[in-house]
Amino acid sequence: MTVSLSSQNDRPWRATVLTLFPDMFPGPLGVSLAGKALATGLWALEARDIRDSATDRHRSVDDTPAGGGPGMVLRADVLAAAIDAADVAPDRPRLLMSPRGRPLTQSFVRELAAGPGPLIVCGRFEGVDQRVIEARNLEEISIGDFVLSGGEIAAMTLIDACVRLLPGVMGKAESAAEESFSASLLEYPQYTRPQLFEGRTIPEILTSGDHARVAAWRRAEAEALTRARRPDLWAARGEGVAGRKNKTDG
Ligand code: SAH
Repeated sequence: MTVSLSSQNDRPWRATVLTLFPDMFPGPLGVSLAGKALATGLWALEARDIRDSATDRHRSVDDTPAGGGPGMVLRADVLAAAIDAADVAPDRPRLLMSPRGRPLTQSFVRELAAGPGPLIVCGRFEGVDQRVIEARNLEEISIGDFVLSGGEIAAMTLIDACVRLLPGVMGKAESAAEESFSASLLEYPQYTRPQLFEGRTIPEILTSGDHARVAAWRRAEAEALTRARRPDLWAARGEGVAGRKNKTDG
């Protein structure tokens, strides 16, 4: 994958969201870290109403599923027109939030955050006509093995994960480097004052001032936690490291 440097310099990272509910945005992306960064122009958000591309009198966007069954399906022609009207640069990823999609991971989030920013289609109802997925080359992305009522919250999840990695958004660069998944490990336990809480103290090593011992303790805790809670991540670690050496990873 090539990352165009000029695009990074010329325009801020941008998310273009196609939705039937543009009023849901920025929503939670308008507060705290992401919200401040949005207000200061570190990233840009455009929520476009799919219904603006409807052509009939009733502005309908969906119809009954071919072959029968419950619910409604988003029409290919309307969605394709909405995607075309968004007129996104060809180097921007085109994603469809979908429970059938490739599971969202921190490594894909990092890849997206390093690029110009995606176009994201939010499904509703029973989903989207298969032909528009193919005709507009949409990559299906899932945020987990459960079913939401629409793609908007999934899109916000993806955008939030990307935005906090953009340069200047998070206070300290270290917080991104050490957190969960950055080394395919879950994060070690965190503590802060008071020193004594309901009879529980902060582990002595953390208040010792011995940075090497602190680092070793955190590493050991992260490894033990990952092994116990996420044997899948733990098992995949070896492959990840080998993959990176062979430059096939990401
Ligand atoms: N009938 C579909 C589910 C439709 S849910 C199926 O069984 O696959 C309606 C919309 O919500 C989807 O089109 C998608 O955009 C969004 N959505 C639901 N669950 C999601 C998930 N886990 N990840 C990402 N998007 C999801």
